[in-house]
Amino acid sequence: MLTLAQADQIRAQRHRAVLLYITDRCPVGCAHCSVNALPSSARPSDAALLERLVDGLCGMERVGLVGISGGEPFMEPRALQMASARLADAGKRLVLYTSGNWGRDDGTAPRWTGAVLARAACVVLSTDSYHAARIPDARFVAALRAAAEAGSWVAVQVLGSHARITAAERLLARAFGSTWAERAEIRPTELLTRGRAARLRAVRQGAAGQVAPGRSFGPCNLVQAPVVRYDGRLTACCNEDVVTGGGPAALHAIGRDAGELRDALAGMEHDPFLSALGTAGPGALTRLPRFSALGERDYPDICSLCWALLGQGAGTDPAVQAVGTVLR
Ligand code: SF4
Ligand code: SF4
Repeated sequence: MLTLAQADQIRAQRHRAVLLYITDRCPVGCAHCSVNALPSSARPSDAALLERLVDGLCGMERVGLVGISGGEPFMEPRALQMASARLADAGKRLVLYTSGNWGRDDGTAPRWTGAVLARAACVVLSTDSYHAARIPDARFVAALRAAAEAGSWVAVQVLGSHARITAAERLLARAFGSTWAERAEIRPTELLTRGRAARLRAVRQGAAGQVAPGRSFGPCNLVQAPVVRYDGRLTACCNEDVVTGGGPAALHAIGRDAGELRDALAGMEHDPFLSALGTAGPGALTRLPRFSALGERDYPDICSLCWALLGQGAGTDPAVQAVGTVLR
């Protein structure tokens, strides 16, 4: 078993954790989906490519933790069974991210999910008002139980108010009884302003969203764990806009077999700009004279500053290279 705090400790170490993004598809279709996942979204069509990527990850000693996400990874039974089996056999600890929509309303779960769940050290299920509107409580509780019965630690990510957390506590108590905290945890999360959620927030907040000066942003934690997509596209972080193809080229790479994957991830791991993002942080980089104007501008989030720095050449700037190399 692995709690979220333990997983966070591993993810904080440079390239010790990787996220395997196994599909863009999801049947749930939430209005706030940060990756724009839909039932009709793209899915793995080249099984051999995915197998090569998984085998590549299996062969990387430094990688100790692999998260499997999407979209909804349980929408891809073959890919999920293959990836989880090979990665577990290679000694990788697995964290599965899911909506729980594969649970059944009668309280059971598909038989094939048992073996997959048994390979996971942690299963992270998300709930909020958008999910709850589409996933009946009985289905979600069935997924909670299936994960725990397979031996995984259960983490419920809750977006929203205190009332949503109370609702999640009720679901956990329904699944496991009053001692649910012995096998599960709740982690409050915030709405990610990407994908369809970006449009939601724009509607809610208009132009009055919160901003902060560039110089105030600390290190980026997400750049420590790159993402490997099922189609061979690699990204330096799990920013949803980047994972779905957006953002500066410096955050993207391609790896279509084990060798390319290893080389591309090594390139990201040792990239001075990316190293500086995860150590000094983008705010500190605005103290360099060339980027000082960015430090005085306001940004809605750390990623906007990151992209602005890259847009002004920080990826190849000698001073940034020196900072990143020294702090690596
Ligand atoms: S938020 Fe999660 S469950 Fe909802 S559509 Fe996106 S991937 Fe699916
Ligand atoms: S700051 Fe840059 S590297 Fe970090 S998550 Fe945002 S886009 Fe990715």
